[in-house]
Amino acid sequence: MVVFISGECGDSCFYCPVSEGRFGKDRAYANEFPVKDLMDYVYESYRMKAVGAGITGGDPLLHLDRVVELIGILKSEFGRSYHVHLYTTGRYATSDALRELERSGLDEIRFHPVKESYLEAVERALRTSMDVGLEVPAIPGKEEWLGGLVQWAKNKGVKFVNINELEITERNAGNLAPLGFNISHGLAGAKGSFETSLRVLQEFSEAEISLHYCSSVYKDVVETRTRFLRTVRTSAKPYEEYTGEGTVVRALVRTKEDLLDYGEKREEMYSVSPSIVEELMKKGLADEVWLVEELPYGQKVSETLVFRRGK
Ligand code: SF4
Repeated sequence: MVVFISGECGDSCFYCPVSEGRFGKDRAYANEFPVKDLMDYVYESYRMKAVGAGITGGDPLLHLDRVVELIGILKSEFGRSYHVHLYTTGRYATSDALRELERSGLDEIRFHPVKESYLEAVERALRTSMDVGLEVPAIPGKEEWLGGLVQWAKNKGVKFVNINELEITERNAGNLAPLGFNISHGLAGAKGSFETSLRVLQEFSEAEISLHYCSSVYKDVVETRTRFLRTVRTSAKPYEEYTGEGTVVRALVRTKEDLLDYGEKREEMYSVSPSIVEELMKKGLADEVWLVEELPYGQKVSETLVFRRGK
């Protein structure tokens, strides 16, 4: 489960991918759902049968109390094996904050050290029992900086470094385009980012540190789809069918007949399984039929009119 705890952040990276609607705002989300109460994270976790959570933002440590309380809630509800990791720049990762996170049961902390001085926080975290990693974007042409960071992490005993393909989003495109960073492939991958990662991965291929590369396509196609599939497999209603992409398909039927045996009624339309639509039409039980495909959090992907009486 993706825990977006708040969009507030003390830094302002030129490549920040966080959307306009979220960045800098104290808004919280469980996956794509707005959250009002910390218990909403528990409900969403059940809804997708999550085995763990990644707490992100903004910088989550700006809301340390909220984070610590949430980790406590998740661990007591789902047990100690429910894996929780957290992303932070390190700016607010004081010794006290790290001790509190450790006590709350946080399993892993991933630093995105946007300033060199934040590396001191990484060193502090290494003195706790939590797993410590770095997670940074591969900025095209910045092999030297990235290689230096990996070398530093290896020397200090950091467990892993995750290198993400630089993503071009609606919000950061205005900053990235003048620097010559354009989309190279897929939905958002910046040209040159993969090559920069590859050079660093090759340089450290023999080194004793775990290095991972995550492309924007992998994030979208594999991570997001896996999360959607998990959700629909657990929470799809009996009359809903789901696709390999993790979307939900149902039929909406307008009729004067009572179809409650087949599904649910909402706003004058019955939601029923697409597999019984033909039968309903044959029996004259439908006046109008739509096929609707939605993401597991309700956003419509498509809506097709398949039948209207008299047409
Ligand atoms: S630290 Fe993260 S959230 Fe904050 S500005 Fe940088 S990329 Fe955005």
